Formats: sequence, C-alpha cells, structure tokens
Amino acid sequence: MAQRRPDEPQTSPRQETGPEPRERSPGYSIDGAHFPAPTLAPGLYPVATPIGNLADVGLRALQVLAAADLIACEDTRVSRVLLDRYGIRRPLVAYHEHNAARERPRLLAALTLGKAVALISDAGTPLISDPGYKLVEEALADGHAVTPIPGASALLAALLASGLPTDAFLFAGFLPSKSGQRRQKLGRFADLPATLVFYESPHRAAETLADMAAVLGADRPGALARELTKRFEEVRRGTLAELAASARDQPPRGEVVLLAGPPIDKAAGGDDLDAMLLDALATMPMGRAAGEVARATGRSRKEVYARAQTLKAVAGAAPSGEADGADDDEPRPDAPAGEGETP
Ligand code: SAM
Repeated sequence: MAQRRPDEPQTSPRQETGPEPRERSPGYSIDGAHFPAPTLAPGLYPVATPIGNLADVGLRALQVLAAADLIACEDTRVSRVLLDRYGIRRPLVAYHEHNAARERPRLLAALTLGKAVALISDAGTPLISDPGYKLVEEALADGHAVTPIPGASALLAALLASGLPTDAFLFAGFLPSKSGQRRQKLGRFADLPATLVFYESPHRAAETLADMAAVLGADRPGALARELTKRFEEVRRGTLAELAASARDQPPRGEVVLLAGPPIDKAAGGDDLDAMLLDALATMPMGRAAGEVARATGRSRKEVYARAQTLKAVAGAAPSGEADGADDDEPRPDAPAGEGETP
C-alpha cells in the first residue's frame, strides 16, 4: 500500500534515476523515469483522464492515481491501458451504471476507514454522463473530503474546436434515443441564448442532427466533433441542415459530440433584439429606431434596419407610433456597418 495519511498531496515528486530497482515503491513512470507516489489525505478524488490521447493526462492525476488506496473505474480493462502506460499498480474496483447501487456502499465504507479513493471514468472527466455524481453526493453527505483533479473532457474539447460562441453554453449529455422525445427536449433548449452541446452515438448522429435542424433551425450554425485527440480526429462545421446531410451521406465513426450555436438573433450578445426594436418602434420612426438599437447593441445599423423591416412585414402594418413616410433617415442598402449611428 502507498505511504499516506492526512498530509496534503505533494506537488513535486522526486525523480528516481539510475538502474531499475527490483521492488519499486508505489509510484508512476513517464518515459522510463520513475516517480514515487506522494502521500495522500483520505477522501474521494474524482480524477479526469484523457479522452483518447494518453499524453493528455495531468501530472496531479498521475500522482493521485499512484497514491490512492483504490481506484474506482467504469471498465477495469479500459483503465488498465492508461495505468499500464504510466506504470501505476493500484487496486481497481469496477463502478459503473449497472453495479453502482451495489458498489457505492463499499466505496463509502472505504472512505469511512480513512482510505484515499480515486474515481475515474473510461474517458475524460468522471461524473460527466456517468454514475459518479451519486458517489460524490453521498460521500459529501457522510462528511468525507472530495478533491477534484481536473483535466480533459470531450464537451470542452469539442467546444474549443467548434468555432461557436463559448461565453454561454449548455451541456445536456445524451438526448433521448426516440425522435419524439428528442424533439421535445430540444424544443426546451431552442430559445436559450447559448451554444448547445450534446454527446451522441455515431449511428444516431444523422437523425439527431436532422431533429436539431428541424427544431432549432436549419440555418443555425453547428458542429460535429469526432474522435477528438485521436488519430481520426475530425470537426465538421456548417449549418445544422448541412451537418445533417453530411452525417447522412458520410456517417461518422467513433465517438461524437454535436453542437449548435445560439439562436441567430441572440448570437451577437445575448440581447433580445426583437424586443428592443419593438419598444423603439412604438415611439419613433423605423430609421431612428434602427439607429438607436444598433448603438445600444453594437450591431450594424444595416442589420438592425433589415430586422425592423422583417418585423414590420410580419406584423402586416407599421408598428404604432410610426408616421407614414417618416423614414427620412433610412440607410442606403449598401451602407457600411455602423453608418448613420449617432455619435
Ligand atoms: N466523461 C467523459 C467526458 O468528460 O467527456 C464522457 C463520457 S460519455 C459516457 C462518452 C461520450 O463522450 C461519447 O459517447 C462521446 O459522445 C463523447 N466522447 C468521449 N470521448 C470522445 C472523443 N475522443 N471525441 C469525441 N467525443 C468523445
């Protein structure tokens, strides 16, 4: 068993060089260099591991995994690949959605005995679309320390490469596998001024993208990210309709994340352009209203004016307060962004 107890984890392991020792102390190895495990305080350590490329593991993740009394993981065969790569030999316990209710009391009992328990998933950050949440919840309820060891996650890696806005995003795990329920759930997210991120199995990607296009809008920008950090890493970008067609014609293989950008009206800053325009149009002519709203939102006057014209067309009549022929400050159709704005 590793040296331990209640001290803080060390942050700078001592590197052992020279001839291979016959019986190594518990620790981890990087490119043949062995590092002893630090001491580790008792408690639960959710540890992020790579989502494909084993070089993405964090140094603290290796320290904690090497020092833990036991490692709870989803599939011991999957986790052994990572642990073998870094020469880590600690007891493994399977903890997955099919045995979580049975195994959780045993893991909590180990914590009560003062053990340091690491929790990992098959890939990425535990608790993200796996049963780790219940374990953390109950460990905290029992008064145990929970120390996060952050690292890779497919949802963030996909967001980084998508080209979609990152200031506000909603991650909603896997959508329902039946189209009706999936569309219903998508409908609840449709108006959120945020990028939407979903996990999906590759064989459902095309039909889920078709539902996303139908419910969120065919022209809405999106991305399909697959096999991130791996050999066949690929990110497809385009409108949801284009992505649905692409996934239908060239079904993606491997692991897949689907993303949709915010509703087009709200993408620039999360402001409610229509509401602001309708307010302004109630008291001033269209040209002036467009100028005021463009200034307030930082959008181009041309864009805002076009939206005002659409609103007017949809309403079927000039909004109240607008005098006939009052658009004397209407911008030229080719007016550059911002032209006509009041200083
Ligand atoms: N806990 C993990 C995380 O932090 O990302 C995710 C586990 S979840 C059960 C598995 C799903 O994550 C896959 O079905 C896929 O949607 C996504 N995923 C995992 N690895 C990925 C990768 N390398 N590239 C793209 N998506 C990935």
